[in-house]
Amino acid sequence: MSLNFTHDPAARSWVETANDPACDFPVQNLPHGVFSCQGRDASGGVAIGDAILDLLALAKAGVISTEAHPVLEAAAEGSLNRFVAMGNQAASLLRGEIFRLLVLDGAGPNPVRADPQRFIVPSAQAMLHMPLRVGSFTDFMTSVHHVTAARKARPARELNENFLHLPVAYNSRASSIVPDGVAIVRPHGQVREASGQVVFRPTSQLDFELEFGALIGPGNPLGSRVGLDQTEDMLFGYVLVNDWSARDIQIWESRLGPFLGKSFATTISPWIVTAEALAPFRVAPVPRLPGQPAPLPYLDSARHRAAGALDIRLEARLSTRNMRQAGLPPERIVATNLLHCAWTLPQMTAHHTSNGCNLEAGDLLSSGTVSGPTDEEAACLFERTAGTLPLDLPGGEQRLWLEDEDELVITGRAERDGFASIGFGPCGARIAPAR
Ligand code: CA
Repeated sequence: MSLNFTHDPAARSWVETANDPACDFPVQNLPHGVFSCQGRDASGGVAIGDAILDLLALAKAGVISTEAHPVLEAAAEGSLNRFVAMGNQAASLLRGEIFRLLVLDGAGPNPVRADPQRFIVPSAQAMLHMPLRVGSFTDFMTSVHHVTAARKARPARELNENFLHLPVAYNSRASSIVPDGVAIVRPHGQVREASGQVVFRPTSQLDFELEFGALIGPGNPLGSRVGLDQTEDMLFGYVLVNDWSARDIQIWESRLGPFLGKSFATTISPWIVTAEALAPFRVAPVPRLPGQPAPLPYLDSARHRAAGALDIRLEARLSTRNMRQAGLPPERIVATNLLHCAWTLPQMTAHHTSNGCNLEAGDLLSSGTVSGPTDEEAACLFERTAGTLPLDLPGGEQRLWLEDEDELVITGRAERDGFASIGFGPCGARIAPAR
């Protein structure tokens, strides 16, 4: 995706809240999601400031070009699989027209600005849903810092040689992915106690993993491989991901890979930030790790070396019930950057299809825990506390693992001099007691 008028850093919206520099959704972002409000079924919308542009109302009003209208109709549906399958060029056509309707200084008549009550829904009145049906969810493990720190906590485990040659992954669970705000029930599972006794009980080592996910637009036919540069046409948009993990369950069961220790829930941010919105934030991938060989040709290209990665600042904040009751703000416990990952989402996509596996519209590929080298860049509690070094919180509480009523919220921002900064909205949830 190339830069165009929709990335103009000087552009302002007539939706005033979109012009706050701290706002995640300025007119340069325009992420797609699915919302409902009282008395209405779920339908598609675009976030702008603290409001939502109602795409169903827009489709009914007939104010979009004939060319973009079929795209708008798909983007107005209650699930965006058909829309993302249309691909980045179709989304770009719609983005340009929506930008012109929401920008302050647009030329010509603007029917949306003339009648905002018909088209603009305050976010406070809306409920956000899963933006689409995720058919398959693949979780990678691409941060060497995550692997290394995990090795500290579990001395027997070493960095596998294959990590330096390929983006390691497993097939995770799609049905339990939920949007921001849905409570996560503490899962039960089989656990081997320190005494050696094997029991079935609620996890006592509930953890989060701060991750960054890509949603697939047009898929690839079964049996076909997708070249690294061609993956750009498949990567439709991006969301924040929390890969909730029950470490005691995970550690006892993992021989083939994670299963019930992960499959009880995954949270995503419900707004799909498009590849085009993130075009200004593409950068060269980080240098290869010491001792890491050059990637094999199917994971390498000149174009990828120039701008295959995304510069995204990622944070997580924790608040406990006591902190909220005392009026204390959530405590930032992670501040990291997607660039800590040793493999990029285009490389993950190319690797995923390298055996002919077919990806489909709405599939989710997640980066794995985005950890950097410092303590604050440790993107899960397993690394930060290793189950033995408690995290100190305001108000005097400590945490080794997440407790009931804890609330963990992941946020992300893309920033670059000369461009409007954009964000993703929250990816958060509160822990509910075991049932
Ligand atoms: Ca993970």
